[in-house]
Amino acid sequence: MAGPARGKVEVDQDECKGCGLCAESCPAKVLELSTELNRYGVHPMRYVGEGCSGCGVCYMVCPEPGAITVYRLTAQESEARDATTL
Ligand code: SF4
Ligand code: SF4
Repeated sequence: MAGPARGKVEVDQDECKGCGLCAESCPAKVLELSTELNRYGVHPMRYVGEGCSGCGVCYMVCPEPGAITVYRLTAQESEARDATTL
């Protein structure tokens, strides 16, 4: 079972090369390849929308500067997000 959301990630669909390192490294397993192709003709990564802990591992392993951004939610944002997903 996924823990409470403590973060969120955004993937720049046109900077991602679809290497998959972030998804393999994500402890929460909340990243997946998009079904769409980007300008490089690859399937970019996307956030499933829930369950990110904000740990930053995906950011650290990503070889493409600017492809992935991690946000840590404040306690209030986290509580509000959890409340809307109950
Ligand atoms: S910040 Fe951590 S939990 Fe969130 S998507 Fe990246 S690796 Fe996964
Ligand atoms: S590690 Fe970076 S380039 Fe590779 S799939 Fe993830 S976001 Fe895209």
